[in-house]
Amino acid sequence: MIKGAGAERLGAVLLPLALACAHQRPGDASHGWDYEVTPTPQLDRLDVTLCFHDAIPRSLVADEAGAARYILSPRAVANGHPLTLAPDGETLDTRGATGKCLAYAVDLARMAEEVEEQHMVRVGGVVATSPHLWLWRPGKLIREADVSLAFKLPASVQASAPWPVDDRGRHRLPYTAFSWASQVVLGEFDALHFTSAGTEFDVAVMKLPREISDAGLQRWLDTAATTVAGLYGGQFPASHMQVIVVPYPGGGDPVYFGMALRGGGPAVQLLISAAAGDDEFPGEWVAIHELLHHGMPFVQRDDAWLSEGFVTYYTEVLRARAGFHSERDAWQALLAGFDRGSRSGAGQSLAEESRQMHENFAYQRVYWGGAAIALLADVALREAGSSLDAAMRHLQRCCASTLRVWPAGQILQAMDDSGPALQGSSGQAKLEAPKLEAPKLEAPKLEALASPILRSAAFPDLTPVYRKLGVSMVDGEPTLDESAPVAHLRRAIFSQPRP
Ligand SMILES: [Zn+2]
Repeated sequence: MIKGAGAERLGAVLLPLALACAHQRPGDASHGWDYEVTPTPQLDRLDVTLCFHDAIPRSLVADEAGAARYILSPRAVANGHPLTLAPDGETLDTRGATGKCLAYAVDLARMAEEVEEQHMVRVGGVVATSPHLWLWRPGKLIREADVSLAFKLPASVQASAPWPVDDRGRHRLPYTAFSWASQVVLGEFDALHFTSAGTEFDVAVMKLPREISDAGLQRWLDTAATTVAGLYGGQFPASHMQVIVVPYPGGGDPVYFGMALRGGGPAVQLLISAAAGDDEFPGEWVAIHELLHHGMPFVQRDDAWLSEGFVTYYTEVLRARAGFHSERDAWQALLAGFDRGSRSGAGQSLAEESRQMHENFAYQRVYWGGAAIALLADVALREAGSSLDAAMRHLQRCCASTLRVWPAGQILQAMDDSGPALQGSSGQAKLEAPKLEAPKLEAPKLEALASPILRSAAFPDLTPVYRKLGVSMVDGEPTLDESAPVAHLRRAIFSQPRP
């Protein structure tokens, strides 16, 4: 019977759909959820609730191995049903939970005793932790999930996180809050909030003895942000920046260590000398270096030559442009760095040294090998009427805020793709070019320029480029020859480009 067969076929399609709606089993994913996080005044425990926009997902996980050791009484809020740890020891099973909200506590006291310092540290009245240790989320993470978080803080406790805040005062957690490293600081710290070069800075300073004043800290970070912003037309390339400052006893350089983090939003951590005063900080290189990282996309670890090399080159160039040191001082630093780079490493190609940088401590070889590529690229681009500035700005616009990790090849490709936009955008270089100039060369491809250097075990020979630019070393001091063939390009490198 034709009619019946049709109805049967229709039924075959509709019935499973109807069943699916009526008895929809929750999946491992969720399209959105909201956390409330309440630390105790003693910071020995966090109480966390999370309410899902749709059904409770089938499972919860955390993004740090061993996080399950610190979770206490995970349960459904509606019926108090306890969540059980699956046999893998890492997954919470939510079967039996009703409603939309789950709750758990986190044993911060135990965590402080057991977890290695990289992920959790307790200093006086402050804990700094990777949120991956306590932010449990659906077993399957959707990139577009709409996730928010609010802290409910006791009077004595403040919070610092890299996540942006919406108009309702809630933090918004992008996908990378779960997938990339970050730090959340809870407790009593000195908080500074200011806007610099269009970026909101949230600075948490550990309450430890320090010579630098709050005003000095702000001036230091403001000058660093403005210096980096000079490369990007005066606007720092991020809307929000978490900065964590840890003063440490001792003398010497004003800043001992810096690190850029990207999970959930851009962040910088800085370990500073407790003995250094306000005037020692503006123009020092570490803050400028770390902030520069945030103008570039997240480069994969194996390709540190690119991220560290280009940032190292620009750290010296931008400090000269901002007037913190002279062009000669910048050359002194560049030549000394290239010299260290050429004398270190394990005798492998730059690409291989870069892959094994952390194992072999080949930092000088990788940072300065990459910086040499940046210098060669900048000069070649300027000879063709463009500049590395223009390529960096293009890269920032197209790619810096993408939430993924980039191989170096794709970044060079993206810079090469800036194509005609590179032409004629070198600012100062054009102004200073002599009238009778040789015809412009075709803009070089950065990939082609970098690849023989990456394959070579030898540090790139910079003698020809020094000669062209008029840079030489006499008795350990750089001398600059203004009659060199492209001395105007050298001067342009160290001049602030027009926006
Ligand atoms: Zn770096």
